[in-house]
Amino acid sequence: MKILLTAGPTREPIDAVRFIGNRSSGQMGAAIASAALAGGHELTAIVGPVTASIAATRRIDVETAQQMYDAVLAELAGHDLLIMAAAVGDFRPKAAAAGKVARAGKLVIELEPTPDIVAAAAAARRADQRVIGFSLDEPDLLGRAREKLAAKHLDMVVFNPLATMNSATVAATLLWPDGRSESLGAMEKGAFARRLITEAGRLWAGRKD
Ligand code: C5P
Repeated sequence: MKILLTAGPTREPIDAVRFIGNRSSGQMGAAIASAALAGGHELTAIVGPVTASIAATRRIDVETAQQMYDAVLAELAGHDLLIMAAAVGDFRPKAAAAGKVARAGKLVIELEPTPDIVAAAAAARRADQRVIGFSLDEPDLLGRAREKLAAKHLDMVVFNPLATMNSATVAATLLWPDGRSESLGAMEKGAFARRLITEAGRLWAGRKD
């Protein structure tokens, strides 16, 4: 398969030196990238500012959600499957200040939502392409993952609890649009990534169903 993977956080600028970010390290993305390459797949990785090292056939570095959006939509057509593992920032400052904002009194920053990349990709894809999303939430909020699966028109969602962030292990639940789900139990991210690539292969193999 030709796999398009996003990984890591995004950074949304407040001014020339400050940004709004999140705690994603990119470890999950790195594990998925390794599993994809080990499985003999061609991999394009679109990567936010990460600390983890991510191997790929081709790597595109981005910083903001908008840059990730542009890169995903530009690359999608050349791939069979998108795995949207990035922790995309949901909000960004409406306007980044030029230069450095001086420290004086209080600062109010107006935020606006970022574009939903995976939803846009799912809307733009061909019938033979598959899209997998992630849902990071409190352990008891599995229902939200099912809502995202339907609202964003995804082929599979990986629900993972908040504890996954910056952890070496993950206790994920896989959800499919036909109502099936499977809880995998805690495992190393490498083992989880191999399982995810197997599931991706199944989705791809079943594309003519
Ligand atoms: O709605 P929520 O952010 O929880 O959805 C998570 C899924 O949507 C992940 O796959 C994430 O990469 C993706 N996402 C996106 N664009 C956004 C926010 C999230 O593609 N602006």
